[in-house]
Amino acid sequence: MSSPAEKDYLVIVQCHLVKERCSGFHCEKAFHDRSGGFSRYAGQDQQRLLTMTCGGCCGRSLQRKLINLLHLSHKREQMDRSRIMVHLSTCITKASHHGPVCPHLGYLKELISRLDLAIAEDTWISKTAQKRRQQGRY
Ligand code: SF4
Ligand code: SF4
Repeated sequence: MSSPAEKDYLVIVQCHLVKERCSGFHCEKAFHDRSGGFSRYAGQDQQRLLTMTCGGCCGRSLQRKLINLLHLSHKREQMDRSRIMVHLSTCITKASHHGPVCPHLGYLKELISRLDLAIAEDTWISKTAQKRRQQGRY
């Protein structure tokens, strides 16, 4: 298992449906601040960031998108996949005002794991949403 310090190419996978009305600002903000799902990278400021959506239910096109990334990053930069961490956005991994946890979460993880890529859960963590989860409102 590699450490967060070895991961310098981060990929945020976001819910395709949620992204129809979300710019992704909070995901980027969490990355910029190294907060939420990115707190593990505190003190590291050299990472690159790529965002993509799952492509829509059931998320199967994510496999093709990640294969394309692996192909190009290796071809152009001889990048090893061990440098990549795939972050599933919080709107996929946690219930929120956007809806319940993605019903295909396990499938998305399987697609990513099949490519031998590391997976992390969460991006932006909203204090309000966390409070509502604890109250059982989501
Ligand atoms: S986690 Fe928030 S900011 Fe990121 S894609 Fe989902 S709804 Fe948008
Ligand atoms: S598979 Fe999950 S993450 Fe992708 S669009 Fe459907 S609900 Fe959203």
